[in-house]
Amino acid sequence: MPVNPRLLEILVCPLCKVKVSLTPNGEGLRCAKCRRIYAILNDIPNMLVEEARREEKKAP
Ligand SMILES: [Zn+2]
Repeated sequence: MPVNPRLLEILVCPLCKVKVSLTPNGEGLRCAKCRRIYAILNDIPNMLVEEARREEKKAP
């Protein structure tokens, strides 16, 4: 199940205060500004900065 779209509308990156967007695979929420990806576990986004991972620059 994807994250509730209404929840997505209010979720912002705790660092940048900008809206995050769902990653293509639906497994995380990405901040376009700092390029952190917040994991979604059990439909609950983990918005902790220290647990977010940085987006890899190189494509797989
Ligand atoms: Zn950010």
